[in-house]
Amino acid sequence: MIEVREVTKRYGNKEVLKQVSFEIKEKEIFALLGPNGSGKTTILECIEGLRKYDEGQIKLMGLNPEEAVKKGIVGIQLQSSSLPENICAKDAMSLFCMWKGISPRYDLLDAFGLKEIENKQYKTMSIGQKRRLHLALALAHDPKILILDEPTAGLDVEARAALHDQIRKLKQKGVTIVLASHDMAEVEVLCDRVAILADGQIKKIGTPAEIVLEVKRENIIKVQADKRIDTLHFKYLQLQKRDNGYLYYKTDNLLQGLMELLNYIRNHNYELLDLSIDKPSLEERFIQIAKEGI
Ligand code: ADP
Repeated sequence: MIEVREVTKRYGNKEVLKQVSFEIKEKEIFALLGPNGSGKTTILECIEGLRKYDEGQIKLMGLNPEEAVKKGIVGIQLQSSSLPENICAKDAMSLFCMWKGISPRYDLLDAFGLKEIENKQYKTMSIGQKRRLHLALALAHDPKILILDEPTAGLDVEARAALHDQIRKLKQKGVTIVLASHDMAEVEVLCDRVAILADGQIKKIGTPAEIVLEVKRENIIKVQADKRIDTLHFKYLQLQKRDNGYLYYKTDNLLQGLMELLNYIRNHNYELLDLSIDKPSLEERFIQIAKEGI
């Protein structure tokens, strides 16, 4: 769906993208994850045709970015500052659709929960409402590819979850979604694949689960029961410490380790008071890459 081939971008002498290559498949939610200044926005803007690159090639459904945008294949979520303060959601939609030569898509205001506030001025909207409005505007011409730059930055937990749901629904409808984020938790729950960017280069690419698997540490099971657990006979669990009534076990086989522990608790008629699992996360791998560059 999208092909980025050995793209290099320089600002003066500074190379901010260094031969970046990746492909995005149809109906994927693909994330560019990286710290500030790593080049995420630059890549997105090159894909959107808003920025020229110095070397390499970008194709969207076989077309150059400018052609793809002209043909309405791409939808871009604009940043919040880009609408006049006094415009309301309804007028923004009709204006956008007029520019694009299509009839107003008020149905999208409805789909994104903006119908009740369609006459509210932009300046009085919450960040979540603004984001949803920008998403609705970006989708007005039914693009096949949607590009979102930090779509949930500044949103509270609830608004973020609601926006994630909407992004997932778009995927189900067949839209390919590319987003930039520096929020590991977001990428882990939302995206099919992720490219980790540091210093203008792709350091890792894969599903969040594949990348997490590279974290070389065991899972930790933290458990509390109403009676003392005798740890001698566990095969898959190694006791790491006892602390504050809790036992901490390391295991490299989470399923077997859990089974062993829960069977023990059940067979001894103990009561399970608390149990949690600390698994390696995308964040750990990301920090490793950012620190060590591998
Ligand atoms: P990110 O989106 O990951 O925060 P950017 O793509 O915005 O990163 O920026 C990548 C690098 O390019 C940064 O070092 C930034 O300072 C630099 N940069 C971005 N835009 C310009 C510009 N117009 N002129 C010069 N340098 C720029």
